Amino acid sequence: MKIKKKFNILSNNLSALINYHRRKTVLGNPPSFIWIEPTNNCNLKCIMCPTGTGKIDVKKGFMDYTLYKRIIDETKEYTSAVTLAISGESLLHPEFFKMIEYASSNGVKILLNTNATLLTREKSRLLLDSGISEISFAFDGLKKGTYEKARVGADFEKTLDNILYFLRLKKEKRRKLPYAILSILELELEDYSEMEKADFLRLFDGLIDEIRSREVSTWGSTFKDTDTFSFRDNSNVYGPCSRLWSTACIAWDGDVVPCVYNANHEYVIGNIKNNRLMDIWNNEKMFRLRESMINGDYLNISPLCENCIVLGTPPIFGIPSGIRLSLADAITNVTGYGFERLALSIANRLRNGSFTAKTISE
Ligand code: SF4
Repeated sequence: MKIKKKFNILSNNLSALINYHRRKTVLGNPPSFIWIEPTNNCNLKCIMCPTGTGKIDVKKGFMDYTLYKRIIDETKEYTSAVTLAISGESLLHPEFFKMIEYASSNGVKILLNTNATLLTREKSRLLLDSGISEISFAFDGLKKGTYEKARVGADFEKTLDNILYFLRLKKEKRRKLPYAILSILELELEDYSEMEKADFLRLFDGLIDEIRSREVSTWGSTFKDTDTFSFRDNSNVYGPCSRLWSTACIAWDGDVVPCVYNANHEYVIGNIKNNRLMDIWNNEKMFRLRESMINGDYLNISPLCENCIVLGTPPIFGIPSGIRLSLADAITNVTGYGFERLALSIANRLRNGSFTAKTISE
């Protein structure tokens, strides 16, 4: 990424923060952090996911590669990073590696969240050569029983083997990137001793960049009544959702939605096939959603937002959680990946360890 672009993105994020605090509803700053959904199909039936639990009734499909290229062409000047995943397993997309290569050759960082169950030896090699910048392996459970209870359909040993093979190959090839994270959700389904935890973490010694534990999200209100797993009830805390000022999400069929939790396309702002993202970003529907967030009557137009983890996470030094994500990414462009780890550890110190994510090993 060119240095000028890095600083433009940083400046856009600072504008997002100012516009948020000034309660502006029509924005000059573009969204610098974007999610694109290659597919909403998945091979697992995870208990904390709308797709896995069958809560999705929108059509399922795969993003057309030509449409994907058009999105990258349109947004590459202002996009810092694209996470290539929303509510499906992206490795199922037949042109997935082409997608990564196209974005990275156009100066856009690609981040991937994957369940790693489909990460064969060949796909590991392709992924390492694709130009991907960051990969997060979703591995929710330190023991076979709990992992397979959460990630229904996955095999503990096989997935672990897939991840370790990828990490060893990365080390063998002496690649710095992708920055590799093992992400473990705090589902509170399991008990393990400190020794069991240490034994598990030791498997990744010298291989992984970071092991991160994450608070479980209810996907807005999608799982607000669940008793299948535990989550923090945030309903008594409220600050307008700053993702509406800083990030954008594009589903496989081109629908643009306010955030990743709109797995059922609950609030569609527009479709990228018919309009440019910047026009959708400031259209009447987006304007009304931002305005309702400021007024506090957002549930009238987006009931999905009830109990959302983003609304319930207090700001740190005036930086709300949604903008923290894109701002941290913009600073990482300039400083490198060490910054993200540092920011997480500072956030946890300030919040007494109760931040939504924390590094448990590096
Ligand atoms: S409050 Fe939550 S569900 Fe609503 S737009 Fe923000 S991130 Fe999405």
